[in-house]
Amino acid sequence: MTAIFASNNRTTHAGEVLDLAGIGIGPSNLSLASLLDSITNVRARFYESRPQFDWHPGMMLPDVELQSSYLKDLVTPVMPTSRWSFIAYLVAQKRLYAFLNAQYEAVPRREFAQYLAWVASQLKSLSFDSTVREVDLEKDRFILRFDHGAATAKNIVVGTGMTPFVPSWAVSFLGDRCFHNSEARWRLPALNAPRIAVIGGGQSGGEVVEALLNSKSTLKELNWFSRRHNFEPINDTAFSNQVFSPEYVYAYLNLNSDQKLEALKASILTSDGLSISTINSIYRRLYSLRYLENHTIDAKLSPNRDVIQVETDKDGYRLIVRNRFDGGVEVVHADAIVLATGYQFRLPDAFAKLQDRIQLDRNNRPVLGDDYCLNWNGPKQNRIFAQNAGRYSHGIADSQLSLMAWRSAHIINALLETDHFDLEPHDYQVNWLSMGHDAVGLSVAVDY
Ligand SMILES: Cc1cc2nc3c(=O)[nH]c(=O)nc-3n(C[C@H](O)[C@H](O)[C@H](O)COP(=O)(O)OP(=O)(O)OC[C@H]3O[C@@H](n4cnc5c(N)ncnc54)[C@H](O)[C@@H]3O)c2cc1C
Repeated sequence: MTAIFASNNRTTHAGEVLDLAGIGIGPSNLSLASLLDSITNVRARFYESRPQFDWHPGMMLPDVELQSSYLKDLVTPVMPTSRWSFIAYLVAQKRLYAFLNAQYEAVPRREFAQYLAWVASQLKSLSFDSTVREVDLEKDRFILRFDHGAATAKNIVVGTGMTPFVPSWAVSFLGDRCFHNSEARWRLPALNAPRIAVIGGGQSGGEVVEALLNSKSTLKELNWFSRRHNFEPINDTAFSNQVFSPEYVYAYLNLNSDQKLEALKASILTSDGLSISTINSIYRRLYSLRYLENHTIDAKLSPNRDVIQVETDKDGYRLIVRNRFDGGVEVVHADAIVLATGYQFRLPDAFAKLQDRIQLDRNNRPVLGDDYCLNWNGPKQNRIFAQNAGRYSHGIADSQLSLMAWRSAHIINALLETDHFDLEPHDYQVNWLSMGHDAVGLSVAVDY
């Protein structure tokens, strides 16, 4: 391996220059930190706003489940011998046999979150309570500024995740009675609202609806709106799941931006649909309410709906909704609105000073190179890697856990300028590219 970095030293001292500084510690950067833990000559440190590791705490509702395999953990797909695997966690917690006997079809998200927190509590390269307020470049060094102090690094990796998407009509209403699902765990129990509208038919919307239907609240009327043609399930079948393979990403990288968009649209339900268990749970609860419990909650499910306008009225909100199925327009009243309207990638505000130097695409998204580096006009040797920013450039798997270890391995290979991890494509069954087409793949050769 090319020894381009200084000797092992995982603690940052004042004045010390890091090889890599990570902004945000969610699963993506935690995966990177876990893999770097086995590499002794990279000085890396990761910074997180929260006081400790916490995985989407606002959506840790009762009984929520992981939508991906626990083997796609922080490290296993590229380094199965790592001590930071999910299996290693189960063994350390002395619950491997019990876990196996539980025969989960899907692992509880609470369990996976505990695994992630277990890893985070032991890695020495992580700093919590450290919001990165500003990133700047001085000569050939990035300066990260916190409320107290600063750090200096040659390269940075953005791992700040997705930001809740709030439709423009909802922005002025945000508060106790109109909120994004990312705050559901705290806001739902305090919601004293007989009529609630949930907007969004994806997994988050489904989890909120499930929690509301099962809660002992004052709920009398529930309206669930989805834009999709129906309350669509996640497509979790064998061939569909190929889009979560390195081979698919290698093929996808060959497409032009219009082709990428088409491919992304075609595979959307491999990622954004409802889990079958959530669908069944909601359906059975509705059945019970309707036929066995005498309609204690009036639940109305409305697919094909666009909420086009919302106004406040004396009792709460008045929603104007267009039905795409038959073209009708409806008016619905609600005392509270839960926005399960998705997430989007945006660079953190901390990048204000550098943002004019970062290339954006026609949709205002930062342009991400094949090796997960942002295109920018700074010094070539100072790279800005970005995790979970490549849903459009690298395919649907980029915003999921599925390929996070593989992506982290690519970032490490690019950083070290060598094939530290073997990321050669596996033997595969599906020919994504035309016969005779040589996939470009992800190259570790950095052309600077
Ligand atoms: C509720 C939910 C459930 C999901 N379940 C699954 C699943 O089962 N399977 C799957 O494959 N995918 C799932 N996903 C999708 C995806 O895997 C997760 O969103 C995952 O958490 C992404 O990890 P991340 O590290 O990129 O971002 P995040 O987990 O969002 O972490 C980003 C971190 O950055 C911190 N941060 C932000 N700004 C700063 C700053 N300026 N300074 C310091 N720290 C900062 C934040 O506090 C946060 O901790 C789920 C997504 C959601 C929302």
